[in-house]
Amino acid sequence: MINVIEKETERRTDENSLFKNVGIQLKKAADLMNLNPDIADIVSAPNNEIVVNFPVKMDNGRVRIFTGYRVQHNNILGPYKGGLRYHPTVNIDEIRALASWMTWKGAINRIPFGGAKGGIQINPREFSQAELERITRRFTFALGPNIGPEYDIPAPDVNTNEQIMAWILDTYLTTIPPSERHRSIHVVTGKPVESGGSPGRNKATGQGVVFAVMEWAERSGIELSGLRFFIQGFGNVGSWTAKLLCGAGAVLVGVEEISGAVVSPEGIDPVKLEQHLLLNKDIGTFPGVKKITHDGFLETEADIFIPAALENQITRKTAPLLNVRLVAEGANGPTTPEGDGILEERGIEVLPDIFCNSGGVIVSYFEWLQNKRSESWELEEVDAKLKKKITTSFHRIEDKREAMNTDRRTAAYIVALEYLEKVYLERGIYP
Ligand code: NAD
Repeated sequence: MINVIEKETERRTDENSLFKNVGIQLKKAADLMNLNPDIADIVSAPNNEIVVNFPVKMDNGRVRIFTGYRVQHNNILGPYKGGLRYHPTVNIDEIRALASWMTWKGAINRIPFGGAKGGIQINPREFSQAELERITRRFTFALGPNIGPEYDIPAPDVNTNEQIMAWILDTYLTTIPPSERHRSIHVVTGKPVESGGSPGRNKATGQGVVFAVMEWAERSGIELSGLRFFIQGFGNVGSWTAKLLCGAGAVLVGVEEISGAVVSPEGIDPVKLEQHLLLNKDIGTFPGVKKITHDGFLETEADIFIPAALENQITRKTAPLLNVRLVAEGANGPTTPEGDGILEERGIEVLPDIFCNSGGVIVSYFEWLQNKRSESWELEEVDAKLKKKITTSFHRIEDKREAMNTDRRTAAYIVALEYLEKVYLERGIYP
């Protein structure tokens, strides 16, 4: 545990703050597109920042105080929307950045959602299931009317899942009048299907990454089948991306987890690896792979690298190590502005997070719509609608990239900012 925090602190102080990185990305796009300076100021700062300290009874009978965050960045396009993260290094700077990226994702994909993010500074592995349930329920209670089905809608992120969403749903519903409960289940997305979740939401972010990579391959005139890729982080996003890409004929040649990194030029079976990791915490004991150092892992020769763990992984120190054609950002904020510059110099293409991992929020929108309409869609319908959204956004970004002669991240920002600017100028600023 102490090692994790020390490692993470070193990682964070090594580069700019995450929210500062958002500012750098935003300024580059705003300067290039001549964004109205008033709109630039508005979208540079989050609307609301909620910090709650709340008590929870532990299994040993003692009470412990926890700190939770919810940053509501912007809601000009619709209700605030974004995940909740449980991690020992969660802090307000990180949550501000993650909330801003959610605003851009909604705008790029033309989804009527604003941007938000939240979390609790805990290592969930240190708590029993009963304690995690009480922490989640008490956090939901502490947030109170700051969340709501038409106001601010949480979803899963790092170390949170369907079960945690079900506890949030249940707690929220008990705080409102009985007559309003059934029409309020869209207060969270990423719920278990039986509790109002959408088919395909669990795999949605990974599925979106794969649709994005497919569009990139088609545009580049490359066959996806046979492409070699490696992944950092084998949780929800990483494992689904790996399984779906392998299903499309690509070959998984390396995986890094908290417990270490492994490679296999012959290919790793992602289904078997997933089963192995459920029973054995150490990835190094998976049969048929070679253990490798972190730097050695990043140097893996392949076509695609998919960061799907945490932010600030591709930096001025690590970007020179990559030997790939494409970085497809499953994680949020995996590349720092310095890392971006080095990738560009080296001719490594990037599918930026605010586009590449937006499958999660897109299918969350579908779940929200189904709940509002008391509908339940088939998986094929969800997948087809997701593919259409990702494909349309890919071409929107490509067109902008060519028109502005810029990189994909900046083009994606411009797509988002032009849309937000238009809405702000139409509506004006009160009074
Ligand atoms: P998760 O908790 O399911 O998985 C994260 C995985 O990364 C875990 O298996 C963890 O052990 C591993 N990990 C953590 N630190 C690591 C490190 N330093 N090196 C290697 N592995 C490490 O979380 P997730 O939902 O898959 O989220 C992963 C990333 O994707 C995050 O950046 C998140 O914000 C982003 N994201 C998630 C969603 C979603 O729908 N869940 C949507 C969009 C973006």
